[in-house]
Amino acid sequence: MTEKLVIVGNGMAAGRLLEHLTETDPGRYDVTLFGAEPRVNYNRIMLSPVLAGEKRFEDILIHDEAWYRTNKVSLVSGRRIVGIDRAAKTVASEDGAVVSYDRLVLATGSDPVMIPLPGHDLPEVISFRDLDDVERMTAAAAKGGKAVVIGGGLLGLEAAAGLKGRGMDVTVLHLAPTLMERQLDPSAGYLLQKELESRGIRVITRANTKAIQGGRHVESVLLEDDTELDADLVVMAVGIRPNAALARSADLEVNRGVVVDDHMQTSDPDILAVGECVEHRGTCYGLVAPLYEMAKVAAARLCDDAEAAFVGAVTSTKLKVTGIDLFSAGDFAEGEDREEIVLRDASRSIYKRLVIEDDRIVGAVLYGDTSDGAWFFDLLKEKADVADLRETLIFGRAYSGGAPLDPMEAVAALPDSAEICGCNGVCKGDIVSAITGKNLSSLEDVRTHTKASNSCGSCTGLVEQLLSVSLGDAYDPAAVKPMCGCTELGHGEVRRLIVAKELKSIPAVMQELEWTTANGCAKCRPALNYYLIATWPGEYVDDQQSRFINERVHANIQRDGTYSVVPRMWGGVTNAQELRAIADVVDKFEIPTVKCTGGQRIDMLGVRKEDLPAVWSDLNAAGLVSGHAYGKALRTVKTCVGTDWCRFGTQDSTGLGIRIEKFMWGSWTPAKVKMAVSGCPRNCAEATCKDVGVVCVESGYEIQIGGAAGLDIKGTELLGKVDTEDDAFEVIVAVVQLYREQGWYLERIYKWMARVGLETVQAQVIEDLENRRALFDRFVFSQRYSQADPWEERIRGRDAHEFAPLADLTLKEAAE
Ligand SMILES: Cc1cc2nc3c(=O)[nH]c(=O)nc-3n(C[C@H](O)[C@H](O)[C@H](O)COP(=O)(O)OP(=O)(O)OC[C@H]3O[C@@H](n4cnc5c(N)ncnc54)[C@H](O)[C@@H]3O)c2cc1C
Ligand code: SF4
Ligand code: SF4
Repeated sequence: MTEKLVIVGNGMAAGRLLEHLTETDPGRYDVTLFGAEPRVNYNRIMLSPVLAGEKRFEDILIHDEAWYRTNKVSLVSGRRIVGIDRAAKTVASEDGAVVSYDRLVLATGSDPVMIPLPGHDLPEVISFRDLDDVERMTAAAAKGGKAVVIGGGLLGLEAAAGLKGRGMDVTVLHLAPTLMERQLDPSAGYLLQKELESRGIRVITRANTKAIQGGRHVESVLLEDDTELDADLVVMAVGIRPNAALARSADLEVNRGVVVDDHMQTSDPDILAVGECVEHRGTCYGLVAPLYEMAKVAAARLCDDAEAAFVGAVTSTKLKVTGIDLFSAGDFAEGEDREEIVLRDASRSIYKRLVIEDDRIVGAVLYGDTSDGAWFFDLLKEKADVADLRETLIFGRAYSGGAPLDPMEAVAALPDSAEICGCNGVCKGDIVSAITGKNLSSLEDVRTHTKASNSCGSCTGLVEQLLSVSLGDAYDPAAVKPMCGCTELGHGEVRRLIVAKELKSIPAVMQELEWTTANGCAKCRPALNYYLIATWPGEYVDDQQSRFINERVHANIQRDGTYSVVPRMWGGVTNAQELRAIADVVDKFEIPTVKCTGGQRIDMLGVRKEDLPAVWSDLNAAGLVSGHAYGKALRTVKTCVGTDWCRFGTQDSTGLGIRIEKFMWGSWTPAKVKMAVSGCPRNCAEATCKDVGVVCVESGYEIQIGGAAGLDIKGTELLGKVDTEDDAFEVIVAVVQLYREQGWYLERIYKWMARVGLETVQAQVIEDLENRRALFDRFVFSQRYSQADPWEERIRGRDAHEFAPLADLTLKEAAE
């Protein structure tokens, strides 16, 4: 029988352990995972950017529901384990459920330390540990007012910067004379304080808090020297304590943390422990890198690898406050047998200090320029002899050995195990093999596939260098970067920041993202207009002036300056009334050409601009609406006759096509979207070269995606197969919504697919049913604001100036 593995705690260590386990020996265990938080696994480190409004919770998910399903892990979230019966080998959860195990892993993390000051239990006193804390802080910040952060360490400062960014008046209280004194020496601490103060954050060092005051709510914070600071919110970020209560109650050996050996085994051979709850060789860790190593060893142990061992780790720290570059690693205390190398550049606020003992780096502090952090850290971890580099060591890798080194050579020389992205624990080897194995060619690709550079972004330069080293001239960073000449930001970054900073108008985007031109250009304005419409339906008002001429006049301009008019023909089906109305319009307005399009509708070519509203009015009277043949929008849903008429038809392809078109018309998309539904694999509607296609089969519906038959020719790929028409419908709507949310302006679906990867899309719309439904609902919501016939609006007079004939001005009037 499959052995039962129970894991207690669904944090970062448990998540990493499960990844190793499912990779090494999937199916080896029947896994049940209990998490006290009511959610899936997320990147706790990134709570700071979420608080700062730079990321959304969805951006920091590590494993979504689909991941647990795919890997057959039973996740019980929102349920705390309250007892372990080691004799019976069971755990009990707070709701009374008892679950048995063969092997148990404790990964319960840490608890924030709350100093028991008078007033510490008032409702506005918050710790900074999980998403609930961030939501409480965000809600408090929305009311404005004053925040006092007790603790000037990593967490306290990230909280302070986040709250300041959300408009609060922030004071940081710190007991020691300088900030982050455990990671920074006084010089770097001073520079950091200066920088924070220049951003409007007040810092009081040597501040001993006496009480938090207030009746039912926080009103102020009192210091030992009787200073009183008004406060509406108090964040207590003074440290963490391993959460070892459960292990203690089960009589496992516990000191500060749960005691483990080098194989992550506790005093009970059937129970392992990983993460911040652990004490290993007398040390408790509070950063992810060592926890990830522990997770790897524990997973190996669970797969009977007797060799794998954790022997301790040196850690490094970065502060995730945008614009502050700070790196620290190892031990930088002074000592008789230690020497130090210091570099200061006051004009650029740069400070670097290396501490050396026995010709080896034992500590490094970098402020202002942290580009060599990874290299110094590597030398430190490897205990490399730096005697020969001594002279130029402080200038970094580029100058090591006396002569300036090409930075590319420096990156190329890093070992595969060198950690590039500290936030997500991604090494050089992982990135290089993803670039070569998956044909990645841009920074965005690497972010999507490896998560490197996807968090605080401080390793972006290194990742770009790895792209250059791996791809040589084939890597063209310029090709993927700026959206246009008005900004240095790329499309992905702009889309991300519109959401993160809640930018809801074109001027707001241009101001907040520091556009270099006053009003943008023909490239960025239509893109921004689309991003804002797609992101804030109902809130953002479409800016007609940011649209191309065809979208402004809702018809396609032709080479002679006249226009073509294409009404919708739902699923390519028409009738006598519609055909008669078209014939009458053609006669009445003397339209010279009438032609069938490739998308199964009728095109009237050669219409004068000033006649457009009258043409539309006549067509509207017969029930014909705009076909959006000119828009970055849903164009056509081509269909075959399917079971209605065809001997081979397996499903009602015409009916499904009409259903899709009637539901989705009017929605704006990054680029045009063409669809088709074929009733059987003979594929008469050519569904396998459309952006989204359906090929009906006896047993259901094959949904195809990413085809093209224009400048590029490309067959579709199978997104997934479903049994019912309703499921097919939901998948199609959801995948288009995903594209609307992720696509770059003018990026067709097949290019978007190539960028994000078929598997990523499948995970979101085929495997994760909840996510599919959420995408569907978001599409429905946005349709409330888009499904209006633009022809009808213009018949009623909207944008009348667009269609007025050019005035016949006299010279005098023109001069005026
Ligand atoms: C705001 C913030 C910023 C950070 N920034 C950085 C950084 O920049 N770099 C860095 O290296 N580290 C950073 N850290 C630290 C890092 O997040 C932790 O080291 C890491 O999350 C610890 O992983 P863990 O799995 O041991 O514990 P956690 O991730 O805390 O997970 C433990 C989980 O177990 C659950 N749990 C506890 N008891 C029970 C129980 N009895 N039953 C069921 N579930 C239980 C908890 O609810 C929690 O979800 C940061 C932490 C925070 C809070
Ligand atoms: S695709 Fe199949 S069902 Fe549709 S018309 Fe062609 S043969 Fe008939
Ligand atoms: S194929 Fe070329 S020439 Fe023909 S209608 Fe399309 S864009 Fe114009």
